[in-house]
Amino acid sequence: MAQDVTGLVLKEYPTGESGKQIVVLSQEGGKVRLSVRGAKNGKSKLLAATQPFCYSRFFLYEGRGFASVNRAELLENFYHLREDVKRLSYGGFLLDLVEKTVLEGMEEEEVLPLLLRTLAVMEKGSFPADLATDIFLIKYLQLNGLLGGNGACSSCGAEEVTAFSFLAGGLVCASCAKDLPDAQPILPATAKAFSFVQERQKGRIFGFTLSKEAQAEVHGLLKRMVWREFGPFRTLEFAERME
Ligand SMILES: [Zn+2]
Repeated sequence: MAQDVTGLVLKEYPTGESGKQIVVLSQEGGKVRLSVRGAKNGKSKLLAATQPFCYSRFFLYEGRGFASVNRAELLENFYHLREDVKRLSYGGFLLDLVEKTVLEGMEEEEVLPLLLRTLAVMEKGSFPADLATDIFLIKYLQLNGLLGGNGACSSCGAEEVTAFSFLAGGLVCASCAKDLPDAQPILPATAKAFSFVQERQKGRIFGFTLSKEAQAEVHGLLKRMVWREFGPFRTLEFAERME
């Protein structure tokens, strides 16, 4: 018996004539692949709950070796993302990133709520989608153990940070920066943005805005980090071109 799961659809692949496979980030078992049969044959309720961006409850049965969706109940589909191509594109990048990089057995119990929260913020439209993406990235890289320091110097723990180093894996203080060949000075607002998000566990990480200059710097650092750790993402480059 396959266990029923609740989760967010990250991706879908067509299989056979009328079926598809979906990749779901689930509450119960992290990233899981589910088969949806007959999804194109007028079972519109099943179709509506098994597309990317759908957060649904999936009732499963064991079919031919892997779990198939018998019935799905849509809980949230972030419908308003579709009203704005920029928001939709950044949302698409987040699904793509998580689908390709979330590790089996990683702390999905933190990644799923973070992703749902970010999509909800983006959907409202009152918060810029590109900044919401950067805030997500800071937290996601931190949860992956790729961004250290918890808002302080990644090397020595000093609170006053003035630079960023990929070798150290995050923010660094002026003194540690001297010993790190790749350390680059950053704007005070950039340091504050990283610290703000890294320090907060489940608090209000979407509680600030940034100047254009600081946001460009934050985004540039995060993009380099993502490229270094996971490789390039065309979905992000596509979103960046949207205005
Ligand atoms: Zn230091």
